[in-house]
Formats: sequence, structure tokens, C-alpha cells
Amino acid sequence: MSVNVSEIYGSLVFNEHVMAERLPSVTYKALMRTIEKGEPLDIEVANVVAHSMKEWAIEKGATHYTHWFQPLTGLTSEKHDGFIDPIRDGRALMRFSGKELIQGEPDASSFPNGGLRATFEARGYTAWDPTSYAFIKDEVLCIPTAFCSYTGEALDEKTPLLRSMDVISEQANRVLALFGEPRKRIDVTIGCEQEYFLISEEQYKQRLDLMLCNRTLFGYAPCKGQELDDHYFGAIRPTVNEFMKELDDELWKLGIPAKTKHNEVAPAQHELAPIFENANRAIDHNLLTMEKMRLLASHHGLVCLQHEKPFEGINGSGKHDNWSLAANGKNLLEPGENPMENLRFLVFLTCVIEAVDEYQDLLRMSAASAGNDHRLGANEAPPAIVSIFLGTELSAIVDALVNDHESEYNNVHKVAMDLGVSVLPAFLKDNTDRNRTSPFAFTGNKFEFRMPGSSQNLSEANTILNTAVAKGLKDFADAMGDLKGEEFENAAIAYVKQMLKDHQRIIFDGNGYSDEWPVEAERRGLTNNKTTADAMPCLLEQKTFDLFEEFGILNETEIRSRYEVKLEKYNKLINIEARTCKRMVRQLYLPAIAAYAAEVAENIGKVKAVLQDADLSPQETILRKLNAGIKAIDDLLIELDQTHHRVRAIADQQECANENASKVVPLMDELRAEVDALEIVVSAEHWPVPSYNDILFYA
Ligand code: ADP
Ligand code: MG
Repeated sequence: MSVNVSEIYGSLVFNEHVMAERLPSVTYKALMRTIEKGEPLDIEVANVVAHSMKEWAIEKGATHYTHWFQPLTGLTSEKHDGFIDPIRDGRALMRFSGKELIQGEPDASSFPNGGLRATFEARGYTAWDPTSYAFIKDEVLCIPTAFCSYTGEALDEKTPLLRSMDVISEQANRVLALFGEPRKRIDVTIGCEQEYFLISEEQYKQRLDLMLCNRTLFGYAPCKGQELDDHYFGAIRPTVNEFMKELDDELWKLGIPAKTKHNEVAPAQHELAPIFENANRAIDHNLLTMEKMRLLASHHGLVCLQHEKPFEGINGSGKHDNWSLAANGKNLLEPGENPMENLRFLVFLTCVIEAVDEYQDLLRMSAASAGNDHRLGANEAPPAIVSIFLGTELSAIVDALVNDHESEYNNVHKVAMDLGVSVLPAFLKDNTDRNRTSPFAFTGNKFEFRMPGSSQNLSEANTILNTAVAKGLKDFADAMGDLKGEEFENAAIAYVKQMLKDHQRIIFDGNGYSDEWPVEAERRGLTNNKTTADAMPCLLEQKTFDLFEEFGILNETEIRSRYEVKLEKYNKLINIEARTCKRMVRQLYLPAIAAYAAEVAENIGKVKAVLQDADLSPQETILRKLNAGIKAIDDLLIELDQTHHRVRAIADQQECANENASKVVPLMDELRAEVDALEIVVSAEHWPVPSYNDILFYA
């Protein structure tokens, strides 16, 4: 059944169109001032908006409302309240007030807060974020909100993101003013490409590791992997196609601009890319997309895995964060028509390069998670080292600026002007050379940050990126002071040259997967934090506190709480994995291997009874292998058990994470290797769980 896309698009969203249609014009104008200029919303206006929103929602079948927010768990949360308000005569009215719209009070004591709130003051409050539209999901009116403690500390992912969008907007406008441009609306634009796996529900249910950890803790490589490159962009299986169609319809109803869908590199892996939007909406939409994927998969007998590395030996899943800045809708990372616009482009570009080099640790930290530890640096995803890919032409320009090609150009002024007029527009129109191995690539008119994992909320990464770039822009604007005209141009070019010189080490156009790169990166002084445990401490550096405090994004207490929450989550996940791993070995693998060994032994006996002189050495070899394997597995199980118990008891989260990363995870890997080795010895009939062959290649 085909749908009329333009009819359903946004039909479940209280968007500007609906607002304009339904709100009295004064209310609409007041609300627009709040949405576009951040002016406070007064209660009278909120009452009118709430009423109209409720009427609209009820017409669409909604019975409840919820403040929809993003606690530090990385997922979204909702608590449904009915609109109903019983009255004396036994009937019920449907009510929704302005107060209920703009503020809610969830009892938030069960959300992670990293020690920010004692339980006795556990109530947090949620505040409506009118810059992201309300929408209806499963008969519930969802109101996107920010989530704070009563003392005003941010308890969610959205609050700092919104703050960072404000500061980058402020600083970008200061820079634009130097170029003689009037104040503009600055948007951080983001397109989040979402990768995921789809597998059959039946097999999923037979694997405790998939059910509890979202990844396989065991499994021998499938006979066929991704070596034929036949899955990428390949024809989409009918079951998957049905899923994708339903998903598109549901997303379009929610006003989510889902655009591109295709098979990814690994078998059973897929991707969905939306059209980019304002960062706040793009991230809300990505979280909704992820939720819809998980829910809708079940309609098709499928399960959607959003883990970064569900299967060993084939590609994992990332979430590419395409990032740029737009001034009144015009991309600032696109060179312009004239020299001044190109100089402006160079300034913004330079500030991003500076930001990424200066805060590389924080960016890497933003992509750190137990799941992503298996992906970064695993020869299929960017390494754990942050670097920037600019492409041949732009790199050449940077080189020319850094190395002062004075022989070719008479003065600094001319360099930039020449670049501005002739070189920039020509090459950027045809930016075809792509480097898939770079974690932070310039792709023509935007940057693509490829480290983040598929299961992540991109708010943290973008909060860091926005704030770091805001700092670069601020330093530039401060340095330029009141300079005007040619003086400003010369100073700006000199500044750009100096910054590029200082931060050139972050630029790397080569192969990020090669063995030489980590060596070279180390020589350049770039950091290479391989695990979450290694990546986290940079959050507590003075430099981090300074950056976030300077721009009012997060204070030291808030940062410390985030650090605790993230480490705690990491440690809890490893704990769950270790327990699942042990459980599966004890209750599934060891009994199955032992049973098969007994059968082999019995058969040897039976054959011998009939043929005394039979050569049974092959069977005996198998039996020996099985026995030796059982012993090796049992030894490792004991070691893992002891280590796991010891590490779990460590109170300090950082120390616990260090031990998890350096001891528990490697032991689980060793144990896995022993079990996997026997998977291809034991008969398929005896093997207690579906194999990679079964899971990855379904009809
Ligand atoms: P690829 O898969 O080759 O990386 P796609 O075209 O599939 O590229 O995805 C690129 C993503 O970047 C899309 O979500 C697109 O909307 C987004 N994008 C394009 N221009 C911008 C921009 N100016 N700012 C942010 N994102 C952008
Ligand atoms: Mg991409």
C-alpha cells in the first residue's frame, strides 16, 4: 500500500504550520519570538498554546501527555499523564494547562546523576524546549524538554547542547560582524547517519548475550563475511524492505526527514540517513528514529541491534555526525562568491581545525563507551586517534599558508585573495576524494565526525564541538578587536596562518587504518586513548573546566557528575557482560561440549567393540581436543570469575574501569577464543546457540 507522503509528512507534529493555523496571531507571534530569539514565554501565552495543543492532540487520538527528555543514560524518558480531570457529576474533562506544558516535576531519584542530587532533594524539573516541536507518539502528546535539578544543574543531554548552540551562535555573529555582516540566526546543522543490524527475532531469543548485552560474546566467524562486498548497496531483502517502508512512513509522520536507506558493508547491516536539520531537532529526531527502529522491527519478526559491535570479525555500527554552521540558512563552511566570503570561510575552517586539535581528547571522550571500545581502531572504524582529513586541494592551500610561499605570492594579503578568488570555489564544487578512514573529515561543505557509536546520543559530541569552536571564534574575534577594512583582512590572514601553523599536526590525509599512523600520530603528540577507561580522565582536567565554565555550558560539579555517570555506566555494562559470559559458559557451552565428548567416547567404544583393529585415531584426536578445550575453558572461567569479583568490588569508578578494560575484557576475549575454537569441532546439533552463519544470513 503506498502512502501520500506529502499528506502524512509531519501529520503528528505540532509544527509551525499547525501553530500558525490554530493559534491566535498574538500568541503565535509571541511563541515565535521564544522559538527564534529565545525570549521567555509568559504564562498567559503558554496557557493558550497548551489549550490549542491539547485540542489538536485529542483530535489526533491522544489521551496522555509527557515531558519527553534525555537523561544521562543516553536514552529518552517519558512518564505519561492523562489529560483527564474528573468532575463532580461523574464525567471527566480533558485539561492541559500552560503550567503543565512549560514545566513538569518528575521524581528523578532513579535517574543517574553522578552524586549531583542527594535523594532527599530528588525532584528535578523539566522545562519545555519550544525549539523542538511537540509530537504524538502512541497516543501520547510528547513535549520535548530539558531536565534540571532544582538547584539548576543540568541532569540531561539536551540542556548543555542548547547552551552550546547559543554560545556558538553568539561568537559566530561576532565574527560575522567583523566581516561587516548584520546579526543573523545561526544554526548548528547536523545530519546523523544511523547504522544498525537487523536479525531474526527467533535467533535473537536463543542468544542470552544478544538479549542482555546487545552483542554476541561468542561466535566463530561465518563462512562468508563481507569479503565479496556484495552487501553494501546490494538489493534489499523483502523482509527488510517491508520494515524500512513502515519505518519511513512512521518517521515522516513525525516530521523526520528520513532520506536515504541502504544496505551497509556487513551482512545484515543497514543505514538510514536523514536530511540535516538544526542540531537540537536532529538529535531529538535521531533518538526517535532509533526508538521507532527498535519497535517496528518486531512487526516484521526482526530485532534491530544498535550496538557498536554486535558481531566480531565484521564491521560494527557507527553514527556519523555531519556538522556545519548556517547563517540565516546559508552554510558557513561553503566558500562564497567573492574574496571576503572566502576569507570568512577560511576563518571558520581554521577555528574548527584549532578546536579539534585543542580539544581532541574531549572529542574522543565523547565517543567513548563499552560498545564503541570494540569498534574504534578495529580496522573498520576510525582509530581512537582524532585527526582531520581536508582533501588534497584544501590541504595544499593550508600548506601554502603555513609555509609562506612568499616566492609565489608577494604578500600575505595577496595569498588569501588569490586563494579566495580562484582556488576555493573551483575545488569545492567537485570534492570527490573521500577518505573513509578519517575520524573527522571535511566533505565539501561540512565536517563528518565518524567516531561516535551507533547507540549514542550525539548531544555530548556536539556540545563539545560547538563549545570548542565557539572558543576558537571568540579568540579570533577578541584578537581582531576593532580592526576594519584592509587592516582587518591582513590581521585575519596572519591569524589564520598562525593558527594553521600551530595546529597543523591534527591534519592527516593518509590511511588512518594503517599500522604506521599510530606511530606517526604519537610523534606528532596526538593522543591515542584506546579504551573508555583511558579516554575519561580528560574530563577532569582544568582545561575542560575552564572551557565549559567560560561559556556557561557546565560547571565543575556538573562535569564531575557526568564523568561519574559515564564511568559507572561503563562498569555496569562490563559487569553485565562478564556475568552473561560466565553464565553461558557454565550452563550452555561446557555442558554441550562435555555431552558431545561423551558421545564421541561412546562411539569410539562402540566401534571398537565391533572392529577391534579399527583406526580410531581421528575420533580420538577430536576427543582429546574436546577434553583439552574443556580444561582450558574451565581454567579461564575460574580466572575470569575471580577477576570479575575482585574488580566489581572496587569502589573508585575510574580504578574499576581501568581494571575492567585491562583485565576483565581481555579475559572475556580469551575465554571466547577457546569456546569459539570448539564451535567448529562440536557437531552443529550439539551446539547450544545459533551460529554467526545462522544469524547473519537469513531469508
Ligand atoms: P555519506 O554516506 O557519503 O557520508 P550521505 O549523503 O549519506 O553521505 O550523508 C551525509 C549527511 O550529511 C546527510 O544526513 C546530509 O543531510 C548531511 N549534510 C549535508 N549537508 C550538511 C550540512 N550543511 N550540515 C550538516 N549536515 C549536512
Ligand atoms: Mg557518512
